[in-house]
Amino acid sequence: LTKAIFTDSEFEQEVLPHLLAVLKSVWGFDSFRKNQLDLVRAVLTGNDLLGLFPTGAGKSLTFQLPALVRPGLTLVISPLIALIRDQVQKLRHEAEVKYVNCLVSGMTSMEQEEVLAEAQNKRLRILYVSPERLRDPRFRAFLDKLPIVQLVVDEAHCISTWGHDFRPDFLEISTLLPATKSIPIQALTATATTPVRNEIEKTLELGKRGLPFVTMTGDFRRDNLVFRVFHPSSAKDRDALTVSLAQQIVGSEKGGAGVIYVATRRESERLAALLRSRNIAAQPYHAGLATATRHHVQELFMQGEIQVVVATNAFGMGVDKQEIRFVIHYDHPNSVEAYVQESGRAGRDGKEAYGILIYSSATQRTHRFLAKKGIPTSDEIAEIAKRVLAADFYGAVRHSDGSIFTSFENIVTELDFEEAKLWVIVHALEQAEVIKRGEDFVLEATVLLNNSLDDILNRLSKTDQELFEILIKEFNFKPNVRCYYKALPLIQKIDNNPHVVDALLTKLAQTGELIHRTYARGSTFRAGINANNKNVVKKIATDFLTRFQQFDSRLKDMIKFAEMSVNSGQCRAAYLINYLTGSTSSPRCGKCDLCTTNYPVPWSMSAVVAPEPLQVHPTMAILETVRDHNNQYGKTTLKKILLGEAFGKSGGKQYELPAYARNSEHFGVLRGVLNQEKLQNYFDRLIADGYISEIERRRSNDGGIYTSIQLRPRGRDILAGAEPIPTSES
Ligand code: ADP
Ligand code: MG
Repeated sequence: LTKAIFTDSEFEQEVLPHLLAVLKSVWGFDSFRKNQLDLVRAVLTGNDLLGLFPTGAGKSLTFQLPALVRPGLTLVISPLIALIRDQVQKLRHEAEVKYVNCLVSGMTSMEQEEVLAEAQNKRLRILYVSPERLRDPRFRAFLDKLPIVQLVVDEAHCISTWGHDFRPDFLEISTLLPATKSIPIQALTATATTPVRNEIEKTLELGKRGLPFVTMTGDFRRDNLVFRVFHPSSAKDRDALTVSLAQQIVGSEKGGAGVIYVATRRESERLAALLRSRNIAAQPYHAGLATATRHHVQELFMQGEIQVVVATNAFGMGVDKQEIRFVIHYDHPNSVEAYVQESGRAGRDGKEAYGILIYSSATQRTHRFLAKKGIPTSDEIAEIAKRVLAADFYGAVRHSDGSIFTSFENIVTELDFEEAKLWVIVHALEQAEVIKRGEDFVLEATVLLNNSLDDILNRLSKTDQELFEILIKEFNFKPNVRCYYKALPLIQKIDNNPHVVDALLTKLAQTGELIHRTYARGSTFRAGINANNKNVVKKIATDFLTRFQQFDSRLKDMIKFAEMSVNSGQCRAAYLINYLTGSTSSPRCGKCDLCTTNYPVPWSMSAVVAPEPLQVHPTMAILETVRDHNNQYGKTTLKKILLGEAFGKSGGKQYELPAYARNSEHFGVLRGVLNQEKLQNYFDRLIADGYISEIERRRSNDGGIYTSIQLRPRGRDILAGAEPIPTSES
């Protein structure tokens, strides 16, 4: 096609036949699915568009196809790197469409440079970016030069603080809006609740930028899903039901597969082991596993080698397995949106599938605890603001112009702060203009000179020469030797601006004088107009509390789903759709446990028997605990966690374990299994054999030294099942 936007009649006459041809040649599909064509038409006729369609409806194609047929670049913002890589892979390698690429963290600067050059030279039609890239100075510098004709925000509910999946990074998108005025936006999500919709519309200024705005909503009914909720009366019954139902459903069909969702990593490991003891190929999946292990589990599940994945909510996005027969929730998620997403992964093949909730009233406590943990208090917010702006910790340097140079990683280690929480706080402080964030810079890099020092110097301007000479002296740059560049010590010493160094090294890399590999990014901060306004910090804290209340009300709606009774006259499926779409009159499904008592299901309650209790394996319990508190605690605290001791004695005084430690999911798992002394032997052995190690750390408040325990790659291999569990205990 020769242009990017068409009138309705042009669309029908010129564009449509072309679209069908590309649909066939790139994807191999003969026709559009219901609604897909409407979305594509809205895109190609130049509208701002909000598309609300369930997961699996085929939303990706509605931006990919228009992007491939029209000239210009479609910029796609998507929350998960795994999701981005997956889509790029599919188009580039499976469909052999070469003009698609992505920009995500984890790529080397050279790779990023190449992608941007491709985009600028009109060799790309689709560029995926993860939202945190939007702040990258290199990307911002290119933005004006990119021939963007369409902006796409996939999984747009991540922008909503109301949503269950809020990602502060997504708010970066609004900084793109001024630079992309009059470029149409297509926002896509499977969460259609009214507050989320409103927030997406507002934040992305849909319809407010001079373009017509349309909203399209799909059909959220899933006729082939059968919902069931069980209320077991004991923990033992809960295990028995979960394991037996999984076994019966998987066994009812050749190659049958399912997913069991749990709230904690520990349950994921434990239930997977329980299923394996019943000869079901089951594996855990959670954020504590190494990335490679997670990929491996997902791949084996796709291929049918693994029958059941026992997962935390880390599992799901991008899992496109058609023949999943059941999704069992051993723990319910923290919102109805999440429940619909997760249970909706069953039955993509259109055949009957089961969404089963094994309800436990204990689950909500876990969710509340996890949510509370993530909420910053006003003290924490004030502390971060104060210490960052004062640059009073190791790994932070203040420039004479008032800029503070540091990195998120340094703040996390030096102020002993949880990373996810830190991001949330910094974002809030920035929004409230307590601090201002400037351009990121290269914190650490390696530099390898391709030419002699004199050759390079001779080709530089006077100012560049001076700077380069400083670098040579400071970092001992030599031809053909890999040298290390570190930004902070240099700033400390000569009060330079690291962005100037970055510019010089990038330029020299482009002209081939040297090879520049960056491997850590730094962040720039300065005081904002509200830096000394205490009320602003209080307001931020109040906003966080409001957010917690929103969380809690979503959680209650989830519990309501579980607790609806037969006499209520309600239907499970209808409740879910009403919730998701704001409708009040969805029809009954006729299949769920509230609609009927005699729907034929592939399991029998009389076949439910309690599994043999599992032996806890001390080595596994220790390694799992170290993994989940990696680098956080020393041996003493870890032992107390494992033995379930909330108090200790130090210097004759009694102290209580920190709340995180007491609330660890591993608290008390080895109580009654091992005594103090035996447990100590296990630790010694694991350290001696290199499964875990002790490392020295410096406390940030008083500079005191303490040791913490760290998981080593060898220990990770055991947890991943790649190495057998060592058996001896001394
Ligand atoms: P969503 O983003 O809405 O969750 P996806 O875009 O990931 O859904 O698509 C889900 C699946 O549907 C993919 O496997 C995709 O190949 C398939 N699909 C999409 N459109 C069609 C079509 N017109 N015909 C057949 N399959 C399709
Ligand atoms: Mg999608």
